[in-house]
Amino acid sequence: MQIQNMTALEVGAAIRNGSLTVTEAVTQALDAAESSNARTNAYITICREKALAQAEQVGQQIANGSLTSPLAGVPIAIKDNICTKGVRTTCASRILENFEPVYDATVMQKLQAAGMIAIGKVNMDEFAMGSTSETSYFGATRNPWDLEKVPGGSSGGAAAAVADRSAVIALGSDTGGSIRQPASYCGVTGFKPTYGTVSRSGLVAYASSLDQIGPIGKDAADCAAIMDIIAGSDPMDATSLAETPTEFLAGLTGDVKGLRIGIPSECYANAGLDAEVAAKTKAAADTLAEAGAIVEEISLPFLDYVIPAYYIIATAEASSNLSRFDGVKYGFRSNSYTGLTDLYRATRSEGFGKEVKKRILLGTFVLSSGYYDAYYRKALKVKALIKQKFDEVFSQYDLILCPTAPTTAPAIGQSLANPMAMYLSDIFTVSVNIAGLPGISIPCGFDAAGMPIGVQLIGKPLGDKTVLQAAYAYQQRTDYHKQEAK
Ligand code: GLN
Repeated sequence: MQIQNMTALEVGAAIRNGSLTVTEAVTQALDAAESSNARTNAYITICREKALAQAEQVGQQIANGSLTSPLAGVPIAIKDNICTKGVRTTCASRILENFEPVYDATVMQKLQAAGMIAIGKVNMDEFAMGSTSETSYFGATRNPWDLEKVPGGSSGGAAAAVADRSAVIALGSDTGGSIRQPASYCGVTGFKPTYGTVSRSGLVAYASSLDQIGPIGKDAADCAAIMDIIAGSDPMDATSLAETPTEFLAGLTGDVKGLRIGIPSECYANAGLDAEVAAKTKAAADTLAEAGAIVEEISLPFLDYVIPAYYIIATAEASSNLSRFDGVKYGFRSNSYTGLTDLYRATRSEGFGKEVKKRILLGTFVLSSGYYDAYYRKALKVKALIKQKFDEVFSQYDLILCPTAPTTAPAIGQSLANPMAMYLSDIFTVSVNIAGLPGISIPCGFDAAGMPIGVQLIGKPLGDKTVLQAAYAYQQRTDYHKQEAK
């Protein structure tokens, strides 16, 4: 049995009914990862031996009835900023090139307890800073739909691995769109949960108030199934919510009758929005309306302010979080320095890439005395206003529908030459992180060049199940998510 085009739930079911062994599934995924990597550079590390050893064990546990999760035995790819005990976790940076964590992130412990098997660590923008997966120390990842195009970022390796059918499902992280935007560029489904629903313990921090782990898979049902495993309160993460939604998979009925969906007119008036993306995402709204949802135009009048506010908050937090990389405690240390201050300088100069340095500088600047009020405090005020506006909208609507990104995937090299254009590509995703909301990107068509387009559904705080439910309903009526990159 070939697992290539099977969903994670189908692979899990085949394992349980005995038509596929865990070792067969994991071997196929590992072989596919190796051959895919030559084209896409989606993997930084492939863990063949560890995965096969675990497969053996999980196979026995399924046979003796001690593992009953619907995803037991299913291979998974993990973004390389999620700590994996004994398997290097690089954040696609030279500064962590040989860093092997001594503990597993909470999500890894949960996946293992459910019998899921990590086959490798996937490529990303360095420290998750970027929208194209080109800033990796290990080289750019390529989009399986067109190898001359970017897969999006920063979870580009995760999206490319799922699109190239080497990973059945993957975990990514989303600070300003890094799960949803690459999912959109690669024609797969990416879900960012409500902030605090999935533990961040063991996720290497970029911007702690915005970061959230979530799945990238072939469809919404797979994302719901893995949420059943990874969601939940965690004493190791002080920002984890005391109570989180449960029974994500069981909540999928396919019914959207009476669901109220708002379409923000500002998104469609945006000058950077590609006409094909506009048309296809509006058509997705029509599909949901035909299924019984009530679709109306709404206003989100803050769109012009989201990018500046996001890049101030994210870089401020990053400049603080990344100060732990100093060449003393762990990771890379420069060979040539004189004295402690010079050790820091030399290690960071050689260890961090250009984009990361740029953001540390920007973050330090907006937090410095004299500029703190003008930039950082003002950005926090904008954040409060954005939240307030979302609350108003969500007092009348269940979901917001808009494009995930203004365009389809750009060519490799294009965004690095024009960083402002790259920052603007986050315009429809960052406000979701600023307000801590759940959001999903699902495939809704292709442009004239055959590149995938994604539509985004945004929910209320803790409205994760409504988001997944609407995505599932859409995918029951369409087959864009089943199309394969050639
Ligand atoms: N592109 C955004 C950034 O560079 C989002 C990244 C992310 O979500 N990790 O900050």
